[in-house]
Amino acid sequence: MIIPKQMPLEKILKTIEGIENILVVGCDGCSGIYQVGGIKQAETLATLIKMHRQLNNEPGEIRHTIVLRQCDQQLVATTLRPQMENIDALLSLACGVGPQTLIDVFPDHKILTAVDTFGMGGKDRELGHFFEYCSGCGDCLLNDTGGICPMTRCPKALVNGPCGGMLDGKCEVGDYKNDCAWFLIYERLKKLGQLDKFKKYREPRDWRVAQSPRKLEI
Ligand code: SF4
Ligand code: SF4
Repeated sequence: MIIPKQMPLEKILKTIEGIENILVVGCDGCSGIYQVGGIKQAETLATLIKMHRQLNNEPGEIRHTIVLRQCDQQLVATTLRPQMENIDALLSLACGVGPQTLIDVFPDHKILTAVDTFGMGGKDRELGHFFEYCSGCGDCLLNDTGGICPMTRCPKALVNGPCGGMLDGKCEVGDYKNDCAWFLIYERLKKLGQLDKFKKYREPRDWRVAQSPRKLEI
């Protein structure tokens, strides 16, 4: 899933300064599932903005809504078109893909985001922490590395084992707080009886397939 985090309210209020009529748009995809940008969060944000405006005697109407997936132009168009009357700006609670899809559908409106996006990852069930697991490199290595991504979980994106900075399984980058990805890969491959994959030499990556902006024909 994509890892979203709502921006601090002060930052959002600054972003929408001077814009009168705003539709806060949640997303029922990753952002909604992680309770960052679902209907409840869209309603709460709209209420907070309204309260701020009332306190400061600022004009304008703030409404809220939700789209099933803000990354789908068709869903965006069919859901939002009937709700656009008098709206000056859309304030998205989706990941960074959402507002850019909104621009594709509503090129004449102001499109703003209330979310910082941290890439693709998974969530810890007990503590609710997010971990970045994939950078979308376009040439997946997971079948070679026991299912652990060195492109994302090693800050140097090394593909042939650990650097000299690993200490007791921890990564030198970030002051030894994170596990070394290659230590994890080694442990996993050992458990699977596949240490031959650890020793295998991998050719330098073909970064052309990871070069942005990419377009995928499907
Ligand atoms: S190797 Fe590439 S596609 Fe596979 S998990 Fe890592 S970043 Fe994602
Ligand atoms: S210590 Fe491990 S995770 Fe950190 S940069 Fe070196 S190889 Fe990558």
